[in-house]
Amino acid sequence: MIKGLYIHIPFCDKICTYCDFAKLVANDEWKERYINALLIELEHYSDHYEHLETIYIGGGTPSSLSLSLLDQLLTKIESLVPITNVKEWTIEANPDDISEDFITLLEQHHLTRISLGVQTTSDRLLQLIGRGHTKQDIKRALRLIDASKISSYNLDFIYGLPTQTKDELEADLAFLILNTPPHISYYSLILEENTKMQFEITNERLEALDEDLVAEYGEWIEDTLKECNYHKYEISNYARGNAFSKHNLLYWNLEEYIGIGMAAASQFDNARFVNPRKISTYINQIHSGIFDPIEEPFDEAMEFLLMGLRKTEGISTLEYRKRFGILPWIRYPGLQKHLENGLLIQKKDRLYFSTKGMRLSNQVLLELF
Ligand code: SF4
Repeated sequence: MIKGLYIHIPFCDKICTYCDFAKLVANDEWKERYINALLIELEHYSDHYEHLETIYIGGGTPSSLSLSLLDQLLTKIESLVPITNVKEWTIEANPDDISEDFITLLEQHHLTRISLGVQTTSDRLLQLIGRGHTKQDIKRALRLIDASKISSYNLDFIYGLPTQTKDELEADLAFLILNTPPHISYYSLILEENTKMQFEITNERLEALDEDLVAEYGEWIEDTLKECNYHKYEISNYARGNAFSKHNLLYWNLEEYIGIGMAAASQFDNARFVNPRKISTYINQIHSGIFDPIEEPFDEAMEFLLMGLRKTEGISTLEYRKRFGILPWIRYPGLQKHLENGLLIQKKDRLYFSTKGMRLSNQVLLELF
């Protein structure tokens, strides 16, 4: 049963130095052609939307669309999806795109959640990583969201940026404590190949932060958010009360979803498909009536473990055995070592990472497969 709908908007006004997502800077004509293709693809899959529980418009930067293009997209979604069944409808936005008109448009179309790409409140670091907003923009955006009917929001933060000082991290945490957003995604910087930041580091124009300091920052964030009643429920995600990201939980619980747009992935009927990663190929295919995402290898038993162990509650071993006919540590004997060294814990029917194991989870999982 397909429960999630993801729609990819690949446009950004500026390219951040660390980013390796599927995104581009484009003029109005390309944006219009792309949205026209999206509307056609949305309609093509419309008989899959009956059981949708979540919709997520991500990017790129969806808020970089003009209000009229965004209105066309939201209107189309509302006309195709039984919205009253949808429990969460999120859009990603950059702080400098949040205006009264933008918020009004979201309210008119009944969106329930905004995910705001803050990253840091340090104007120095924002400039270093190539973001277009300032701390003032963030504060103004939050005032507008607080005054709106949008019931929930997430703030995206990042730590471990080159040259990030303890004072700067402390200021970010103080900002979060003061504003107490319902949900926080706090990512550790990952230096990706072929990014401007990686190029600058390789050419010694910039120095990556020391690994031990990054680990110290990570523990500081975790402890501070815990003291402020945030529940860490996934490697990088924290919620107050029950403000969990329902859409992301679909991914981590290996539920079925459909992705619309350039480079968007879908997963249903025990298979995974990905749309063309090049915008011109995507648009041309859709306008020619070709709906032909590429099937990617998909090992359900492995994915269930990989995605499920991202959550602090881990996976149900009973459910694993029911779905795949075998216990996870029998199928993957490498898990045994980490059950013995305490990085993994098995209690009742749950298998999950210990606090230390969660911090080393990438390494542990890489070793297994
Ligand atoms: S705004 Fe987001 S998607 Fe766009 S370049 Fe920056 S990090 Fe990448």
